[in-house]
Parts: sequence; structure tokens; C-alpha cells
Amino acid sequence: MSFWQKLTGREPKDPQRYPDSGARMTLLLGGAGPNADIVRASRRRVVVADLRRAPGVDLVADLERPLPFRDGAFDEVFSLEFIEHVPHPDLPRVLRECRRVLAPGGRWLSGCPDIEVLASWFALQCDCVDGWQADPKCRACGGKARISPSRWLKSVFGNQEDYGDRRRGDTHKNALWFGRLKQMLEEAGFGEVRRGNPETYYAPFKADSKLVVEARRGASV
Ligand SMILES: [Zn+2]
Repeated sequence: MSFWQKLTGREPKDPQRYPDSGARMTLLLGGAGPNADIVRASRRRVVVADLRRAPGVDLVADLERPLPFRDGAFDEVFSLEFIEHVPHPDLPRVLRECRRVLAPGGRWLSGCPDIEVLASWFALQCDCVDGWQADPKCRACGGKARISPSRWLKSVFGNQEDYGDRRRGDTHKNALWFGRLKQMLEEAGFGEVRRGNPETYYAPFKADSKLVVEARRGASV
């Protein structure tokens, strides 16, 4: 069962695709996560790495050790809902490792919860929110709430469900916002850091609390 089917109970009529990045060889990190099927459908060759063994996962790796790929083996490193699971002291090292396996000019693209948005939504949480819609007649928030308290907690800290592996894969260990991620990427040797459009990578799911960032591996060593 695909991730899409799990969430919506059906497969989309036409397989959804992401814009062609031109990549010939893509490394997908956290490949058992959301939208993995769409990444596979949109790219020429995809190597899927994940923390846990799952259908479609080529490499089980925790990124505490270097990836078993030569320098410059990929021209794209792609991840959605991955970097917030990397402990914050480890992310600079993981970004340098992403840069190592990217060829010069290769693209790094990642989507994750945007803590800047979620922080602003803390004041806009209310029990009346069903799904993503506030009750317009709610006396507590006047219909202005954006998120329910339980969804806010899950968005910031992860689901923390017990998958029999001490929850290590489903807990958020980092909080990302554009300015911080840009600085870390530049320190890891990336350039041309810019925001991507979350709608492109999260639709049809609500994407306004998501951050998508793209960067290029510079040509210098
Ligand atoms: Zn309310």
C-alpha cells in the first residue's frame, strides 16, 4: 500500500509527478516517508535510503556513519520530512555528507515542517479545528484558529508512535527555519540557497506549515 493510499484510502487517478530536476541519479533520504512513490515516478534513477527496512528501501542507514557512496555519485539529494528527524547537533555533518555524495552543481532539496510558521500558529490553536478547518462559530477563537492542539504537538515533535524501534524514527529532533537552514547549508559548502514552493511537493495535503529549501553544491572542492 502506498503512502498516498494510506492517507487518502485511494490511489490518485493519474500518478502525481514533481517537476523534472534533470537529475540522472537521485539519492532519496528517508525514502519510506511521505511522497516517496512520487519521487520514484518523477526521477530517472533513485536510490532510496531509510533508517528502517521497508518495501522499496535500497539502503538501511542511520547517517551516523558515512554513506557507502563515492564522492559525487549523485546529482540530486532529495528528502521530504527527513531533516527534522536528524538530531540538531548532527545536521551540519549530515549536510556535509550530502555535499560529498553530490557532483559539482548537484541539487539538494528538502521539505520539512517550518518552525517559524508553527511558532506563529501556537497562538492560533483551538480544539474547534477539525482537520484544518476552524469552526467559524467557535466562541473561544472566533473561527480564527489554524490548528488543533494535538496536531500542533505532532507537527512540532512528530507522532512519536511506537514502531517497535524505540520511536527513534518518528520523533522530531530538530526545528528548521529558512534562515538557519540557509546558514548551515552555506557552511556545509552549498550555494544558491533558496525557498522552493511547498505546494509543489506536498499537494494535495496542506502545505502552509511546510518549508522547502533548494541549494546547489558549488564547483569548488
Ligand atoms: Zn476555536
